[in-house]
Formats: sequence, C-alpha cells, structure tokens
Amino acid sequence: MAGLPKLENFIDGQFLATGSYIKSYDPSTGEHYLNIPDSGAEEVQKAVEAARKAFITWSKTPGKERARLMNAIADVVESRLDEFAEAESRDQGKPVWLAKAVDIPRVCYNMRAFASGIMHQTGISLAMPEVDCTNYTCQRPVGVAGLISPWNLPLYLLTFKLAPALAAGCTVVCKPSEMTSMTAYMLAKVMNEVGLPAGVCNIVFGTGPKAGEAIVTNPNVPVISFTGSTAVGKRIQALTAPYVKKLSLELGGKNAGIVFADVDLEKCLPVMMRSSFINQGEVCLTTSRIFVQEPIFDEFVKRFVEKAKSIKVGDPTDSNNMLGALISKEHLAKVQSYIDLAKAEGCTINTGLEPLDLPEKNKNGYFLRPTVITNVPDTSRLMTEEIFGPVVCIVPFKTEEEVIERANSVDYGLCASIWTENVRTTHRVAPQLQVGTVWVNCWMVRHLCLPFGGCKFSGVGREGVKESMDLYTDTTTICVKY
Ligand code: NAD
Repeated sequence: MAGLPKLENFIDGQFLATGSYIKSYDPSTGEHYLNIPDSGAEEVQKAVEAARKAFITWSKTPGKERARLMNAIADVVESRLDEFAEAESRDQGKPVWLAKAVDIPRVCYNMRAFASGIMHQTGISLAMPEVDCTNYTCQRPVGVAGLISPWNLPLYLLTFKLAPALAAGCTVVCKPSEMTSMTAYMLAKVMNEVGLPAGVCNIVFGTGPKAGEAIVTNPNVPVISFTGSTAVGKRIQALTAPYVKKLSLELGGKNAGIVFADVDLEKCLPVMMRSSFINQGEVCLTTSRIFVQEPIFDEFVKRFVEKAKSIKVGDPTDSNNMLGALISKEHLAKVQSYIDLAKAEGCTINTGLEPLDLPEKNKNGYFLRPTVITNVPDTSRLMTEEIFGPVVCIVPFKTEEEVIERANSVDYGLCASIWTENVRTTHRVAPQLQVGTVWVNCWMVRHLCLPFGGCKFSGVGREGVKESMDLYTDTTTICVKY
C-alpha cells in the first residue's frame, strides 16, 4: 500500500485520515492504484454529528442560496470535465469518452435541475368556507440523510441523491461504493472550494457491512436513500424497520426489450445494441432479455449478432472502444459463470467467446466481449437473474398477450422497452408491464422532472424533482380556523 495515493474522509469540511485502508484497483489493468479509508462506526458517528450541527443553519438557509451553491458546484465540475471523466474511467473501467459524454454531464445536470426545482417549489392551499377554515401545507427537511450509492455510475448516481437532499435543506452523510470512491473525493474538494458550509455534506469511505450499516442503523439519520443490489436493499429495509426511517430503494433489474414484427429495425438495432452493452452492461436499466416476434426473429438475431461482433472492447482511454473493463475480477468471474451456465444448459452462444486482442498494459484487465445467447428457456437463471454484464438473451414470441405475461414473469420490475411502428400496440402494452419506466422506440431518455424507480424487487419509491423532494422533506398540513 505504501507509496500509493490515499483518500481521506470528508467530515465537517475537513479531510481526515483513518487507521486502516482498502485497496482500490484499476479495472483496465488489474493494478492496485489507490487506497481508500476503511471507515466504521466511529467515523460515521463523527460525520453524523457534523451533519446534525450543520442542519441547524442549512435547513434555514434560503432556497435561493442553497441553489446558488449547487449551481457553483456544477460550474466547477463542468470546467473540469476531462479530469473528472478520466478519474471516473480509471476507477470504474468505463471508456473515458462515455464518462465525458454521460456520467459527468449528468452530475452537473443533477445539481442544476434540483437547484432549479427548489426555486420553483410551491405548496397546496385549500379553503373550507363552510367551516370557516383554510388549509395549507409546508415541507420541512427531514434531517440528516444517509446516501449510499453503487459502483456502476459512481458520481452520476451519488449526485442524483445528493442534489435533491441538499436542495431540500437536509445535510448528508454519503458513502460511495468502496470500489469507486475517487470522484466523490474530488467532489468534496469542489464543495470546499465553492464555500459549501462545513458539515452540510460529509463523505465517509469504506465497505457496506462496516461503514454502510453504521449509517443505516444510526438513529440520528432518519432518511436513507440507497441504490444498489436487491440483496443489500432487502437487508437495509430490515435494518431500518425498527427505526421507521424514510427509505428509497433503487435496486436491480432484469429488463425486457419487446420487438414487434412491424418494428423499424434500422432505428431499433443501434439503440438495442447500446441498451444491451453500454457501460459493459453494468447499468441497472440494461436490456438483458430481448423478446422478438417470430416473423422477424431470425433476421433480428442475424443482424444483432453481426453488430455485436463489430463492437470494440479494450483500453478505456482509446475512444475507438465502445466497451471498457468490468468493475472487478470477482464481478467478471460472476458474469462469466452465466456464460458457463449457458454452455451447460445447451443454449446457443452466437458471439462472445472469441479471444480479445488487448494491448500489453491491459492483459490483466477485466474485459469481456458482448455475448449474445439464444435457445434459452424462460425458466433458465439466464432469463430470471440480473447478470449485470454485457450478456443478452434473445428469445422468440408469438402474441402480445404471451409476451406481456413472459416479460412480467420475473421478480424484477425496473424498466422495459417496446419497439413497434403501431401506436395502438404501444398504448395497449405499455401500461400492462409491471415496471417503473417503459421506453417506446428509445431507451434511457431521461428528464429529471419525471419519476424514476422500480416495482417488485427493483425497489420502492421514486426519484425525480418532485418525488425526491417528498423523500427528503416531511409535509405538514396546517388547518386554520378564522
Ligand atoms: P451493492 O448492493 O453491492 O452495493 C451498493 C452500495 O451499498 C455500495 O456503496 C456498498 O458498499 C453498499 N453496501 C453493501 N452492503 C451494505 C450493507 N449491508 N449496508 C449498507 N450498505 C451496504 O451494489 P453494487 O454491486 O455496488 O451495484 C450494482 C447493483 O446496483 C445492481 O444490482 C444494479 O442493478 C443496482 N443498481 C440499481 C440502480 C437503480 O436505479 N435501480 C442503479 C444502478 C445500480
């Protein structure tokens, strides 16, 4: 560990060292390149105390001042787009071009959208002249918010929680994934630079079981927003139940793409390719089951496989590569175990097994080719479990009723996409899908004023300009007799 850079916790506006550290790896080389604090209950307690103290002032700071500071954070991050994108890529394995085009711009959008939201907030008022009363509502920030985020879109997802919490007047204790802590640390420096008051945002680095559980079980953290796996989401739900905390859980997905025979394949195929493989398939919204109507099944598979074969995988700093490296050795092995399962079950692996030609420096990185599997039964774990890698199954269907039932047959319910040129099909099918978002002839088009979240094992609650405000505030209805 000696000689390598060490991150420090960000508590009460100060950078504080810890006693022990965790190794962080560059997924594209397999090299240990960074050490991050292995925080526990003691560090979390300090962070919560700092956040509680700062809450007294921050919760009363006018919305326009909170918005000004959030916009200032966005401006600084935007001015350092390259630096942030390169750091995100090195920590996570994604291509630099993707971090530049998607992750870091979205960090700025998160800050600005929620800053704007707080400037436009209104309440409800209702007169009841029949009883000489009038009513109105007001929203109060809940208190210290615990924000826990995953490794796949590190700063993008952390700021999707941080921005509304700060806008609402909460102070926060954040814990990014232990595998991708770097850009949160860089953001902490920006927050000091723009003058965010000490203790408003605290960032504690470390593992889920140690630092994460210390946050979710802290009695002075009344609201928890978590994005991550369903297994951990269930544990957090159980751990927080005795405290009756406010909870938002954004969990895993097993998302269907439904392609009807009247589809415009020229438009569908490039988007479907992206939705199956972008970010190495490490997106909760990834399409991992593609249902294609029988008359066009063979043609769809042929063209999809051709395109998948042409995708370039390798060095994340090379902008010719569409895919970089998966997050870790363990995660690569997990994704590969599903490809082994496909072999064992006698499925057809149309592409994905060809060897990769990687530059010398990337030989120990965690790379995988886009893998396309057919001849797979709906009951296979390939069709029911989240793989979270560049592996997609394509299966045929006959009728609309059948495909709705099959798409809904999994435990998850995050999103789906429908591909058809018939607007009637769209309006019949979309509302019947048990998911939080349905995209029609597109994928991952997002406006932050619209609610985002999942059903079933994909989570509880919604995030968005209005919905997140409801999470981080408590509403009081005031009834006045005159
Ligand atoms: P994970 O559940 O392993 O970890 C997520 C975060 O929770 C990390 O910061 C981790 O340290 C922390 N954590 C782990 N155990 C904890 C515990 N016991 N108590 C408190 N915190 C704990 O998930 P991951 O592997 O980092 O991310 C991948 C998962 O996230 C996938 O399932 C993916 O679908 C999901 N995800 C969902 C969305 C969404 O919006 N629905 C978005 C992105 C990712």
